[in-house]
Amino acid sequence: PPLLEVRNLIKDYGAPTRAVDDVSFSIPRGGSLGLVGESGSGKSTLSRLICRLIDKTDGDVIFDGEAIGGIPARDFHRAPQRRDIQIVFQDPNDSLNPRFSAFDSIAHPLRTLEGLRDGATLKARVEEAAQRSGLPPELLTRFPHQLSGGQKARVGIARAIALRPRLLVLDEPTAALDVSVQAIILNLLDRLRREDGMAFLFVSHDLNVVRMMCERVVVLRLGKVVEEGSGHSLFANP
Ligand code: ADP
Ligand code: ADP
Repeated sequence: PPLLEVRNLIKDYGAPTRAVDDVSFSIPRGGSLGLVGESGSGKSTLSRLICRLIDKTDGDVIFDGEAIGGIPARDFHRAPQRRDIQIVFQDPNDSLNPRFSAFDSIAHPLRTLEGLRDGATLKARVEEAAQRSGLPPELLTRFPHQLSGGQKARVGIARAIALRPRLLVLDEPTAALDVSVQAIILNLLDRLRREDGMAFLFVSHDLNVVRMMCERVVVLRLGKVVEEGSGHSLFANP
């Protein structure tokens, strides 16, 4: 089976139009799929449904052949797939706990989800994830307010890859960054994917970014898939 299959997924918040309306696509092992659409097209809702942070209305999410769409979001932290699917959020200011040092932010999922207790192993895993995310080790003792936007983005990436997930969901991972830092972070992500064989679901409103980063692209409009194709074929002649 593909690594991820989204099948006829629906999310209805009760508004006149559904936020996600009968969406289907799949991502092969180690593959990359870009999800583009204007603001309000349902990208965030879809990525949160896939990470099982919110409950679906109908349809299913199938991860490596296992239906996980029906697991209530509040129970998902106990599901075996929870470690395999990690999300990097748009704004690290929203997702990093201000009271956690960079070290503790990265260590937290290793402690809670992997049950890692041994101090030396934990330290080694945190340092490895930081190094691979381009975060200098001397910054691990710092708190979010002592880090630049790009450094916080690296903490968010290190936290997500520390668990060695099989699917990394990137929800506008560079939207909160300066243009000069964006390119550096995109390069880093591209390298991580090539080295690790992690699959990517890359969410962005920026078609060029998605085309550069992903093998396939799905275009959402008002919760529906309106186009799908390879990054090269799609929109070759706008
Ligand atoms: P995007 O990420 O593409 O900007 P969203 O998934 O955030 O799109 O939003 C899709 C639609 O769902 C929008 O119309 C938005 O207003 C609505 N929506 C998103 N979250 C909620 C929520 N928690 N409650 C009600 N409506 C929501
Ligand atoms: P806790 O809820 O005990 O703090 P979690 O590991 O569930 O621990 O969450 C830590 C942070 O990661 C929170 O900001 C949470 O919103 C976020 N998070 C939740 N689900 C995921 C996921 N699938 N991938 C990455 N981060 C997640």
